[in-house]
Amino acid sequence: MCAEKKGCRVIAIANQKGGVGKTTTTCNLGIGLAKKGKNVLAIDADAQGSLTASLGFSEPDKLEVTLANVLANQMNEEEMKADYGILKQEEGIDLMPGNIELSGLEVSLIHVMSRELILRSYVDHVKEQYDYILIDCMPSLGMITINALACADSVLIPVQAAYLPVKGLEQLIQTIGKVKRQINPSLEIEGILLTMVDSRTNYARDITNLLIEQYGNQVKIFPSKIPVSVRVAESPAEGVSIYRHDPKGKVASAYQSLTEEILASSDSKDSYVTKQSRGGAPW
Ligand code: ATP
Ligand code: MG
Repeated sequence: MCAEKKGCRVIAIANQKGGVGKTTTTCNLGIGLAKKGKNVLAIDADAQGSLTASLGFSEPDKLEVTLANVLANQMNEEEMKADYGILKQEEGIDLMPGNIELSGLEVSLIHVMSRELILRSYVDHVKEQYDYILIDCMPSLGMITINALACADSVLIPVQAAYLPVKGLEQLIQTIGKVKRQINPSLEIEGILLTMVDSRTNYARDITNLLIEQYGNQVKIFPSKIPVSVRVAESPAEGVSIYRHDPKGKVASAYQSLTEEILASSDSKDSYVTKQSRGGAPW
């Protein structure tokens, strides 16, 4: 159950750029938090169903109940048990799976009243059971991603350690600011996470400096950085996390550090939010 005082923390993992490590981060942060004794729900908000597949449900399109169904139920105000459609993953997290049906649902959302708030009503329905809800967003800033931002407490932004992906961040940060102003005033940026860092080059250092220069006084850049490793690409095929696939490897250890940072920042969130709001929302 949620800790009485703090409640459930909802984190959207978002970046409209494709292939930057959103799904890998959702999977390994989620399981990292579960290994620390937290109750975690991961929501696959991507029609590609990659999170669903990487958590061991290898054919997402064959699943009977997915996020598309539960959101449709919310739209139609149909009653539904809080655990309806939730799958248990063997490493200790719960999953609301996603699949191709989410694309159709995204189109039909256009005609719905309060269309930005459908996912929020679902999350409100289930959040009492969890300490953390992580939402793996699709690589777009479409209506489902806006729904994720509209119900999140914070956004974690994975960025591939390369120059162009960093340039693309501006649009995302602007969108987050817009959602914060118009729909979800308490939305914060959890931080920018550098992924696929190749320690043999100076690139990561240059990119980190660039990020600090451009966003450092507005947004936290996680000290934990995720190294590039061929072992990561292998693990989704097995449907297990990096902690099982390569427990002693550098990526498992980096995701463990990230998990610790998230736990620590959740603990100190009150003072962090106060500090930020004193200076006004910079984005
Ligand atoms: P999409 O935008 O399509 O949803 P994504 O942002 O969720 O992509 P992932 O699916 O997590 O990104 O990662 C993209 C690819 O990069 C995958 O093949 C994944 O296995 C690989 N990958 C992710 N992190 C690493 C890493 N640290 N080292 C090497 N490969 C990685
Ligand atoms: Mg993904």
